[in-house]
Formats: sequence, structure tokens, C-alpha cells
Amino acid sequence: MAQSIPEMYGSLVFNDKVMRSKLPKDMYKALKKTIENGTHLELDVANSVAVAMKEWATENGATHYTHWFQPMTNVTAEKHDSFISPTGDGQVIMDFSGKELVKGEPDASSFPSGGLRATFEARGYTAWDPTSPAFIKDKTLYIPTAFCSYSGEALDKKTPLLRSMDVLNKEAVRILHILGNKEVRHINTTVGPEQEYFLVDKDLYKKRKDLIFCGRTLLGASAPKGQEMEDHYFGALKPRVAAYMHDLDEELWKLGIPAKTKHNEVAPAQHELAPVFDTTNVAVDHNQLTMEIMKKVADKHNMVCLLHEKPFEGINGSGKHNNWSMSTDTGVNLLDPGKTPAENTQFLVFLVAVIKAVDDYADLLRVSVASAGNDHRLGANEAPPAIVSIFLGDELTDVLKSIENDTFFSNKHAVQMDIGAKVLPHFIKDTTDRNRTSPFAFTGNKFEFRMLGSAASVANPNIVLNTAVAEVLAEFSAALKDVPEEEMESAVHALLKKTIEEHKRIIFNGNGYTDEWVEEAEKRGLYNLKTTPDALPHFIAEKNIELFTKHGIFTKEELFSRYEIWLENYYKTINIESNTLAEMIQKQVIPSVYTYVEKLADTAAAKKSVVADISVASEAALISKLSTLADTMAKDLETLKADTAKALASSDDVLACSKAYQGTVLEDMEALRKSADEAEALIPDELLPYPTYDELLFSI
Ligand code: ADP
Ligand code: MG
Repeated sequence: MAQSIPEMYGSLVFNDKVMRSKLPKDMYKALKKTIENGTHLELDVANSVAVAMKEWATENGATHYTHWFQPMTNVTAEKHDSFISPTGDGQVIMDFSGKELVKGEPDASSFPSGGLRATFEARGYTAWDPTSPAFIKDKTLYIPTAFCSYSGEALDKKTPLLRSMDVLNKEAVRILHILGNKEVRHINTTVGPEQEYFLVDKDLYKKRKDLIFCGRTLLGASAPKGQEMEDHYFGALKPRVAAYMHDLDEELWKLGIPAKTKHNEVAPAQHELAPVFDTTNVAVDHNQLTMEIMKKVADKHNMVCLLHEKPFEGINGSGKHNNWSMSTDTGVNLLDPGKTPAENTQFLVFLVAVIKAVDDYADLLRVSVASAGNDHRLGANEAPPAIVSIFLGDELTDVLKSIENDTFFSNKHAVQMDIGAKVLPHFIKDTTDRNRTSPFAFTGNKFEFRMLGSAASVANPNIVLNTAVAEVLAEFSAALKDVPEEEMESAVHALLKKTIEEHKRIIFNGNGYTDEWVEEAEKRGLYNLKTTPDALPHFIAEKNIELFTKHGIFTKEELFSRYEIWLENYYKTINIESNTLAEMIQKQVIPSVYTYVEKLADTAAAKKSVVADISVASEAALISKLSTLADTMAKDLETLKADTAKALASSDDVLACSKAYQGTVLEDMEALRKSADEAEALIPDELLPYPTYDELLFSI
């Protein structure tokens, strides 16, 4: 009999239910305490958990286990060990110890370290993250772990993320106690990442070197139809897509990933999946897994899932919305304004802290989403601009104004929706109206950071957000800690007022896509870091080094290593794109131009041989046009090759090198693409070496 969904949900996860049934009571309690309150885990508990995990995993068909971690690439890493342990008599038992659960020692020398780890110290350690549940995939028990070097420097994304969650917890609890809310002992940050993606047919994909090597098309004339009819967004799902989404949901549910929403997105062939939010590190792990499963399931359906930020020119690219909030162990969402936000001091303190944090560290937030892929999206009239600003909506903006001006806030009453037809239900209108153009929007009871690229892990933006907010809360605590109870209310009011005055420049409720906003933002002194090489140097700016080192999120060495790795990743990405484009132009586009020219010439000659004075004007015109385009391409191709070689030769200085790729190589690629796309539009489909946008975007 088919499993019901609640039965299937989490069936491959070592979750609370399994732990409770498999662990001795005291061990279960100890583990729960670690998971819920972040307390340290003792080895005897680990031993007990290891036994239970192995028993459960082998019962469910697992033969191997792996420490699963997130090095500083965009993908996860794993090395599988089997549970077998020879007993000396030619037999084996299935064995797994607490030590093996807690710590692994993978050779770390081939992961990016940005100079942190000399190769002679190639040893790295993985350490179990008990707060993110283990799961079974492909007959292997996956144990989420952090990854660090022999001397303890973080080589991954999870370690600083966990550090940032700890720091925010500490500072949030501290300010809550100062404000008189003494029951709270722990807060968690929560994240719900909405994931956008494209689906293309696998047979078509295989014919495109650019998709295979770069994940995006480097060439391609626009299809006759794009997204202008606005008929794809929320449109009915086509059967092949629906079947894919159905399978995907099931795979995710089995892994305990609460996939909730799915729909067609704005661009043709583009879709979205959103899970129910979770504790940040679990949400980050789940998002990594989701991206992987999306690709795997697509493969089964003879499709390819593209997670690149800009797979196709001329239509929307893909991003991720990072919905973010904080919740207490007493069950309160700290960003929930309640019915009367103006009177909710605790909410206002956290709201204003986020505003200040975003203003003070807007550069870091931009850095946290910087990548070669995302540069194609930000500011391109489809995604938020590269300028970080906050959308609050009218009601909260008015609340803050009344604090700033010491005026009375008159609550505009919640508006009852009346749609004008008797049969339709009445409901209360949302007071936080929606503004889709804002990079950082308050959406009712959470903030939605919308600049994230679709392919990247959501760890970095959350590390920055958690740390920046923790820093501001620490400053607030310092200002309020010695205030006597009877003066607290007015002290908080004064603090809020001052903070609003100093940071209101970051609030912008208007349309972020306009040129006026770019001008206005400049007047306000906000950052506009357009490209990755513009943004990344801010990661190692003095104030930011101070922020991260003060809170123990990154050491100075860790910061610089990440800076190097990201720049390296940036220019290497463009280098691969340049090589791929050069190959496609040289071996595919120019030859197909020649083939067509030859065909046209043959046609003209054949015509002439029959009717001597017949007109061959259209053939001649096409031949001239194509021949000119081939000449331009040949010339531009040489420029691209030369500029790429020159840029690559400067890689000793990663920043200069990245700037060369950004400034010249990308431009050369654009120029080449222009002629190639023009030629493509003239060449018959059957003579083109690769499938066109028409086919890629409209064949499923
Ligand atoms: P929209 O498409 O309107 O932006 P969705 O409903 O698709 O919104 O996605 C909203 C996301 O925000 C979901 O993943 C949801 O679980 C998440 N979310 C809701 N409340 C919180 C919260 N308190 N903290 C973090 N994420 C949240
Ligand atoms: Mg959203």
C-alpha cells in the first residue's frame, strides 16, 4: 500500500521520533539539550547516538556513512566509509563509534583554503553538527558536519554560520533581559529560502557547450516570444513540469525538507520552490540538499535543472529570497509587530536594530551575495538593484516617523477588503503592502533579503545578517545596561529616536528599479557596488574586519582567505566562460556561417546556370552580411583571446586580475555575442550547431 505523506515525511531522517525510540532516556535528553540550547555534547552521549544512528541507518538499507560538509565552493563534499568492520574470522560486523560520528579527518589539500592551509598540513577535520539532523541518501548515512583546518581555522560555511547564530543568540537574550523580558533563555534565527530555477530538456542541453561548462548560455538570439505576455508567472503547470515537481516534493519530504510552495515564475521555463522556514543552519543545509535533489530529479525526467543566476539573456534570471527572523524559546517571533506595533517596545528595538545593522553593514550584505553569476542580475530591471535599502511599508514608516518627531501615532485601522461581490469572503487587508523591487523588505513578521543569487549557498548572507544585528544589539545593550528600571522606557525611546534619525537614509519605500533612485541613493551616501570586484574589497575593510573579529566569527586570516577564494572563483568563472565562448565561435558559429554562405553561393551559381541574367540579389545581400559578421567575429575573437590571456597573466594580484576580467573580458564577450546572435538570426535552424532559445525555452 502506498505510504501516506505524513508516513513518508522525514522517513529518511534521523529525527526526533527516531531518536526518542532508539536512545536511552537520559541520552535522548542530553542530545535534546544540545540541539535546543546549543550546549556542549559529551562523548558518552555521542557514543550512544552513534549506536542508535547505525542501527537505524542499517535497518533502512544504508551500508556507508559520510561526514557531509560545505567547503568554500558552491557545492557540498562527502567521502563515504562503509560500516563494515572485519572480525578476524572472515566475517564482518556493522560498526560505528561515537568517535567516528563526532570527528572525521578528510585530506583537505584539494579544497579551496585561500592560503590558510599549507599542503604539508593537508589534514582537515570535520566535526558533527548535532543540531542539523542526519539523513540517508543513496544507501549512505549523511552526517552534517563543520570543516576546519588542523589549526582550527574554518574552511567551510557552516562554522562561521554557527558562530554567528551563537553571537546573535547571546546578544538578543542580553538585550531582552535588559528590557525586562527575563524568561527568554535562547533565541534562534530562522530562515525560509525561496529557490528559483529553470528546467531545460536534457537532449537540447547536451548540445550546448555553454550550458554544460558554464551553466548559462553565452550566445543565443532572442526567441520571438519572451516573458512580455506575463502568462507564465503562476500559469498552469505543464504535465512534464508537474510530474517533476511532484517527484521533487516527495524526495524532499522523505528527507524532512518541508517543501511547501511551487509555481511557475516570470520567465518561460522558470519555476520556484519554497519550503517552510526552519532554524538557520538547518535551512542552509536543506537548501544545499534541495539544489542537489532538484538536479537529480530533473535528470530522471530527462531534463536539466539550471540554477545559474542568468541562464538566458533578455528574460529574468534566478535568485533566492532569504526570509529571515528571530524567535525565542518562549515561542515569540521577535519581528512580529503584533496588533499595535507603536506600543510594542520589544518589537521596535529589534526592528530598529535591523535597520541600523543594514545601514552600517550594507556593503557586507552586498559582498555576501557577490558572484560572477549574480552580477548579471542585480540592477538589471528584474532583480533588486545593487544598492542595499530597506522597504518598511507605510504603517511602520509612520510609526518610526512618530517616534522620531515625538508625535502621536494614530493607528490607521485595519482595512476590511470589500471586493464588491456578495459571495466573496471578507477579510482584513495586509497592512504591509508589497514592494517587489526592494532588496531588503519587511514582510509582515520577517525581513526578506532578495539579492541572493540562485546558485549560491545562503550561508554567507545569514552570517553577515546575524553578526551585524548582534553587533547593534550589543551597542544597544551597552547604552541601556545601567539605566534604572523606572527610566528604561524613556531611555529606550531616546535610543530609538536617535537611531532612526541616524539611519533613516537606508529606508526607501519607492521603486528601486528607477534611475531616480540610483541618483537619490547616491545623495544619501548609500553604497552602489555594481560588480563583484567593486564589492569584495569591502569584505576586508577596517570596520568589517573589526566586526567579524570582535564577535569571533572570522579571524583576520579567515577573512583574507575568503576574500582571495571569492575573487579567484570570480575570475576563474569568467575565464571558463571566455574559453567556452571562444571555442563555440571558432568551432561552431563561424563554420556554420561558412556552410550557409557556401550554400547560398551554390544556390546563386545554380540559378545563374539556368537563367543567366537572373537576379541573385537576396543571396548576394545575405552572403555579404554574413561574411561581414564572420569577419567581425574573427577579429573580436582574437581580441577576446588576447585580453583573456592578458587578464589571466595578472592572477598574482587577484583583485587586479578580477577587474581585468570584469572590465575587458566580459565586454569582449558581449561584443562577440552581438555578431554571433545577429548571424544566428540569419542562419536556418538546421544549419545551426546548437539549439536556439526558442527550443530551449519552449520545448517542455
Ligand atoms: P512570497 O513569495 O510572498 O515572498 P512565500 O510564501 O513564497 O512568500 O515565502 C515566504 C517564506 O518565508 C516561506 O519560506 C516561509 O516559510 C518563510 N517565513 C515565514 N515566516 C518566517 C519567519 N518567521 N522566519 C523566517 N522565514 C519565515
Ligand atoms: Mg519572496
